[in-house]
Amino acid sequence: MDATAARPRPQNQVPEAEYRAMCRDFTAREVAPRWAEADRKAEFPVAYYHAAAAAGLVGITAPEDLGGSALGATEEMICLEETCKVNPNLSVALIVQNIAGSLLHDYGAAQHREIAARNIAGECLLGIAVTEPEAGNDVQNVRTRAVREGDTWVLNGSKAFITLGGIADVLVLLAQTDPAQGRRGMRFFAVDRDSPGLVPKKMPMYANRPSPTYELSLTDVAVPESRRIDAGFSEIMAGFNRERLMVCGRWLGHMQHALAWGVEYAQTRHTFGRPIGANQSIAFQLAQCHLDVEAARRLSYHAAAQWDSGRPLREIIMDVSTAKLYVTQAVVRVTQTALHVGGGWALSEELPAMRRAIDSLVAPVTVGSTEIQLRIIARQMGLPCD
Ligand SMILES: Cc1cc2nc3c(=O)[nH]c(=O)nc-3n(C[C@H](O)[C@H](O)[C@H](O)COP(=O)(O)OP(=O)(O)OC[C@H]3O[C@@H](n4cnc5c(N)ncnc54)[C@H](O)[C@@H]3O)c2cc1C
Repeated sequence: MDATAARPRPQNQVPEAEYRAMCRDFTAREVAPRWAEADRKAEFPVAYYHAAAAAGLVGITAPEDLGGSALGATEEMICLEETCKVNPNLSVALIVQNIAGSLLHDYGAAQHREIAARNIAGECLLGIAVTEPEAGNDVQNVRTRAVREGDTWVLNGSKAFITLGGIADVLVLLAQTDPAQGRRGMRFFAVDRDSPGLVPKKMPMYANRPSPTYELSLTDVAVPESRRIDAGFSEIMAGFNRERLMVCGRWLGHMQHALAWGVEYAQTRHTFGRPIGANQSIAFQLAQCHLDVEAARRLSYHAAAQWDSGRPLREIIMDVSTAKLYVTQAVVRVTQTALHVGGGWALSEELPAMRRAIDSLVAPVTVGSTEIQLRIIARQMGLPCD
């Protein structure tokens, strides 16, 4: 992946209002009725993925010959913003499909593109397996080893925090193929989840409960050479930039829901004979959240437009990291404010404030943490930051 090269621009575009309305309609039909039970059981409803695929929301940016919509990062952001206004967690599955699917269709051969096509059609749920117990932000420390034996690669190692890792049909998994080459000696493999030697274990988590995360242990997992994808460290780094845009959409929707809840609560909850929102101390906190939402919206859609412009990654990375940094800090502020405004009742499982506040804690730590975004921005500013 050459960060200085121009990137392809989206082939198609749809009017924003039309696309937003379609996503809203999908969300009301498919997210709203499903997520509470999925959250309670900490289980992903696979029917949600099927419904998203049927609505054209899997493979939004994928080529049309694979069944994709060939739209841009902007439409992807709209989709995630709208779905996450109702619930942030089921839509995580869409982010995973888009990132894993892109590796398959952007860099893969015919057999990988065929998996991507089945994914877009709703026939093959994907997972993306990069993180390891000792390799979180430090992706170059990935230690899962792939050793070639004839036409087969034998994989040994472990992965952590893999969303849908125990239920995805195929895992797009990063491994070391040539440790002497460091980060250049890594490749992705499309690994069938039911491969002998691949054992998933659900991780008990406070956050993202309806899209559970798994540890994966790999012991002598045999993967044919035909399942090796010609993409590795630098391709996933580029992919993380697009994923940062998607999570901006996710958290933008998330914070709007939290703020709307907080405002309604402040209007309807009375103390000392008047609504709590009549107190400036409460009203101003919510007004401050409005600023966070509006700033987050502008930074996010500006960054998505830069992505869709086709300009080289190097020229737009500042916009992407600035949006990711701001939105993921803002969502924590907004959800904490809603929690505070809600008083003791906000801690009830019957109300959404606590769930939103807990889930928002995922934002600053994944897809390149706050510190990683600050480092990227500092370097872009010309600072000699290590
Ligand atoms: C809910 C959830 C779902 C996930 N889903 C997936 C998935 O589907 N697939 C996948 O591959 N991964 C997934 N992840 C992993 C996620 O991307 C990692 O958690 C993330 O990369 C952080 O890794 P870590 O927890 O090991 O933190 P670490 O990298 O250990 O970082 C810990 C702390 O140290 C800081 N830090 C680290 N390095 C530096 C540095 N150089 N300078 C300053 N500070 C630093 C970080 O900012 C952070 O605050 C998921 C994680 C979560 C929580």
